[in-house]
Amino acid sequence: MIICKTREEIAKAIADVRKEHKTLGFIPTMGALHKGHISLVSKSINENDCTAVSIFVNPTQFNNKNDLLTYPRTVDADLALLEQTGADIAFVPTVEAMYPEGLENITESYDFGAIGAVMEGAARPGHFNGVGIVVHRLFELVPADRAYFGMKDFQQIAIIREMVRQRNIDIEIIPCPIVREEDGLALSSRNTRLNDEQRKQAVQISQTLFKAVDLVQSSSVAEVKEFVENTVNSVPLLEVEYFEIVNGFTMQSISSWDEAEWVVGCITVNVGDVRLIDNIAFKNI
Ligand code: AMP
Repeated sequence: MIICKTREEIAKAIADVRKEHKTLGFIPTMGALHKGHISLVSKSINENDCTAVSIFVNPTQFNNKNDLLTYPRTVDADLALLEQTGADIAFVPTVEAMYPEGLENITESYDFGAIGAVMEGAARPGHFNGVGIVVHRLFELVPADRAYFGMKDFQQIAIIREMVRQRNIDIEIIPCPIVREEDGLALSSRNTRLNDEQRKQAVQISQTLFKAVDLVQSSSVAEVKEFVENTVNSVPLLEVEYFEIVNGFTMQSISSWDEAEWVVGCITVNVGDVRLIDNIAFKNI
């Protein structure tokens, strides 16, 4: 596996891939890699001649300084895991390599319209703008044929698709299923920040979403929403930030099940100062 830290190093590695006319798959990550990330890497390895993975904790997408400071960083273990999985290129840029003009002098910005105005967009001002900026720059540095994103960050995939459309980038966006712990908790780098009691209670997030699926036949959208909010909030260490039942294409809340063909329930829960997200399909395409 080639490890690239600078723009020059990644440019050379990509030129070598292109010279041999190999197909390239790309997985952008913020590191602290777990089986969820690795499922994306393995899918890319299966579908492309060459797979590149970036590890970059992007400061422009954190609206909360403490979240950025406490974000888990395990680069050495990450690189070992990528090597073992069979990735070909690891791109581990510094903040200076990604933002040579300095964080204060970034000029590009994004308007994602309605899909970016709700849920994570409303709860984390500037977050999706930062995601758009960094993923666009990463796609320029790693011009892949396909890029792999986890459906755990459900709204993020819609944002990436919209960014790619707005900037006219020729790349296929491949959504990948959520990988969960055996008890149902969605894998997340932030799970390592939970203490034992928080971890035990956090399982109620996914368990409540699973139960909610069974209620769809007999309950209204409002009733399912209330069930999820009340059930999760009744767990002492869990506090729902939002739970929205949305059209999977537009991210807008729906009020009746027949309003959309694809219906997804998206939840964000604060467990102490750890913010966890999850989602579940109530109606699939
Ligand atoms: P992150 O490092 O959190 O920015 O995540 C990098 C990529 O891995 C994103 O596309 C995430 O959606 C994806 N990812 C994170 N956790 C999971 C999971 N539990 N299952 C599937 N994909 C995931």
